[in-house]
Amino acid sequence: MTSLTMARGRVRRTTDHMADGRTLYYYDDSRPYLDGGATRSAPDTRPLGPQTGGGSQLRYDVLSGEWVAIASHRNERTFLPPADECPLCPTGRGVAPSEIPSSDYDVVVFENRFPSFSAGAEGSPGFIDDDPLWPSRPGTGRCEVVCFTSDHDASFSSLSVDRARTVVEAWADRTAELSAIPGVRQVFCFENRGEEIGVTLHHPHGQIYAYPFVTPRTDALLRRAAAHRERTGGRLLRDVLDAERRSGRRIVLSGSHWTAYVPAAARWPVEVHLTPHRDVPDLAALDDAERDELAEVYLDLIRRVDRYYEGVAMLPYISGWHQAPVGEGRELGRLHLQLFSILRSPGKLKYLAGSESGMGAWVNDVTPEIIARRLREVAP
Ligand SMILES: [Zn+2]
Repeated sequence: MTSLTMARGRVRRTTDHMADGRTLYYYDDSRPYLDGGATRSAPDTRPLGPQTGGGSQLRYDVLSGEWVAIASHRNERTFLPPADECPLCPTGRGVAPSEIPSSDYDVVVFENRFPSFSAGAEGSPGFIDDDPLWPSRPGTGRCEVVCFTSDHDASFSSLSVDRARTVVEAWADRTAELSAIPGVRQVFCFENRGEEIGVTLHHPHGQIYAYPFVTPRTDALLRRAAAHRERTGGRLLRDVLDAERRSGRRIVLSGSHWTAYVPAAARWPVEVHLTPHRDVPDLAALDDAERDELAEVYLDLIRRVDRYYEGVAMLPYISGWHQAPVGEGRELGRLHLQLFSILRSPGKLKYLAGSESGMGAWVNDVTPEIIARRLREVAP
């Protein structure tokens, strides 16, 4: 067990291990844990076998040029357990020990028990059926779970600014550490919320994926950014932010360090992007003032999203941080958040049907300007 303080002494990280060797990080912002007067460390007494994930394999889709992770062990993962069997509550609140051995926590991060990517992925690079058309490689990387609070019935939007600030610190810390793992090309911090999105655990939590490749969306963005630089000499995401601020029609909120806007070609019925004013590659590159304000504006944004439709207190959403890749192409990336919902009206989901799923060609029934106006109207 080791511990260190961060965020100008406002957060203490304590590192511990689980029964199967996975690593666990407590991020504490409350006393006596913050000043080291007590520790969260507690033994994990469960008789766990070795971590799964050895079977994760990447297969190259020769038709799209994209890697697909094949991780069949994930089919065994916990699916919507009753509240007294929640694996993300502190141990002692339910009928059995949970993933978190301590009897309480502020924010905690740990390695996913059912990872899509894992340091223990077995095998070596080769070809499916020995055919050079189909390259394959082990699904190395890392997947982590972030519990935003020990309160099972809370949601991110109900966190205090201080607790949200601790989550920001955890995201930034994990981004820095995961980016340093050999072979990791991109780190993605995200939250899926709502059963409509496919959430398998109700406890408020997010995830972090450290991919061993640049994801298709980022790859496309980097190619667009390179072409934009070639043509104009400018930075694509910087120029988009400047243009949105000049126009103002789709701006949702603006602070000293952050601006949120609905992208001019939004594809989801509710979609908003949040981006820092300074050109930074990832969350780890944010300074303290930017992290402080992020906790405020992100909470503000999520609370607006929860008021977007009358009668829908908890909008199902996906919120994800787009970060520059590690290594090649890093200078073309720029940190931004994409937050969107698949709910097109109360009780009605936008399904990704033929055009979207089959062709990747999007049709949005709502104009981005109307989405922005609604997000301004529902300011907390
Ligand atoms: Zn829980």
